[in-house]
Amino acid sequence: MDTAKDANARSHAAARNSHDHAGMGDLVAHAVGHCRERGLQFTPLRRRVFEELAGSGTALGAYDLVERLGRERRISPISVYRALDFLIEAGLIHRIALRNTYLPCHHAHGPGETTVFLVCATCGNVDEIASKAVAQDLDGMAATVDFKPHSRAVELEGECAACREPG
Ligand SMILES: [Zn+2]
Ligand SMILES: [Zn+2]
Repeated sequence: MDTAKDANARSHAAARNSHDHAGMGDLVAHAVGHCRERGLQFTPLRRRVFEELAGSGTALGAYDLVERLGRERRISPISVYRALDFLIEAGLIHRIALRNTYLPCHHAHGPGETTVFLVCATCGNVDEIASKAVAQDLDGMAATVDFKPHSRAVELEGECAACREPG
């Protein structure tokens, strides 16, 4: 077992297990800098979509976003989907396929890592853990059937610690 890798995975989990989603301002500031460094356009709509996700504390579906943003101005679902696609491409948010929801990413992902999403079936909270060991295992498994993965993300559905607490 590679302890350095596992310490890395643990630190991500510890940082996200608190259900404490303070730091929305930090997330937005990071997103602004991230786009500026890469010459990407962080348009007002992209920013509002990101702010809504960063401030939500839970993963949101595209139609939740359309409804929330629609209180401010007329907005078409397609423009929200385009903004979401941009944010995914930019590495600022993730899409959870199990739920068809989106959440902001709280950390930078290394190139050789697999992200494991822990999706709570009760409250919808999503934690993410990045692991190089899982990435290597998946690559090894795929190689046995001569399959070349384009991306690696694993989603686990279950119950988070907060939802399992009695009372
Ligand atoms: Zn992430
Ligand atoms: Zn939960």
